Amino acid sequence: MITGIGSLVTNDTAHGTGPLGLLTDAAVVIDAGTVVWVGPADAAPAADERFDAGGRALLPGFVDSHAHLVFAGDRTAEFNARMSGQAYSAGGIRTTVAATRAATDAELDANLARFVREALHQGTTTVECKSGYGLTVEDEARALRIAAGHTPETTYLGAHVVAPEFADDPAGYVDLVTGEMLDACAPYARWVDVFCEKGAFDGDQARAVLTAGVARGLTPRVHANQLSYGPGVQLAVELGAASADHCTHLTDEDVAALAGSATVATLLPGAEFSTRAAYPDARRLLAAGATVALSTDCNPGSSFTSSMAFCIAVAVREMGMTPDEAVHAATAGGARALRRPDVGLIAPGARADLLLLDAPSHVHLAYRPGVPLTAAVWRAGVREL
Ligand SMILES: [Zn+2]
Repeated sequence: MITGIGSLVTNDTAHGTGPLGLLTDAAVVIDAGTVVWVGPADAAPAADERFDAGGRALLPGFVDSHAHLVFAGDRTAEFNARMSGQAYSAGGIRTTVAATRAATDAELDANLARFVREALHQGTTTVECKSGYGLTVEDEARALRIAAGHTPETTYLGAHVVAPEFADDPAGYVDLVTGEMLDACAPYARWVDVFCEKGAFDGDQARAVLTAGVARGLTPRVHANQLSYGPGVQLAVELGAASADHCTHLTDEDVAALAGSATVATLLPGAEFSTRAAYPDARRLLAAGATVALSTDCNPGSSFTSSMAFCIAVAVREMGMTPDEAVHAATAGGARALRRPDVGLIAPGARADLLLLDAPSHVHLAYRPGVPLTAAVWRAGVREL
């Protein structure tokens, strides 16, 4: 039992007040990795073991539903150049592709383990992980095989950019991605994704990639409308994608489509921060009734942060979100984007993924930007730090 919780974010409106289901002076009881009881501390049942939260805030572990963590090398030079005035273009991905192909399985696995650990230390208890830096049949399959050793949320992103070998034959590359590469990757993937963007894959190519993945039992999610207006969001909604990610350039029709669907709008402020670009308008999406998730997009090119707290702070300061909305998006929103009813909330039956802050309220995540506030993390009931 965790007791003495000054402020508890349950994300369960049946158990507390407001959209975060807030409780004060609360307790949570865990058994065999699962939350079994939530309520006022003075009404808590007996428990074998007690942890006193000392009046601090407890919330669900963050659900980072969009990350690219199987890679080698870094792109410090590209970031440095961009911050010196050069524009970002999708082609920089190929730098990481070369380094990733040259890395051993052990190197990629160790890198991924380090990032998962780094995220865990900042309160992230569920992380999605995409392929997309191999771009050959063997390299994409090994990326997903390695990712599957660390998370069940694995995403086939062979359609990240056209592989350099196919620069003059993008149609041939789409054939590979929807054929032999998909066959090799599908056993290790839950999701299929495509970077639908000028310079990457157009609407027809994206549709081909996603429908081929669906035919192999994968569920779609889409890199949509990041750098420009385009067909990505409409395609995501039409195909019943779990999530349309980035959503930086949206028409009124795009916003309406998201609001009228089960497709989550996943916003990735680390990308705009790290490319010095205009942020997506979260307020507009929320006002229309869309479900919004926040995620890191952690990758070496355009958003090299694993910090969900950082994303919350930026979303509040720059994207029109309230602290409550941003925390909800980083927990329950991410869970919706991954279609995971067992995470992103603290309620009976949920997996006991918990983040204790060194702060009296979840609002401190935005109020104290850049400050390490992680006091303790439990994943499936196991104290990780
Ligand atoms: Zn991404």
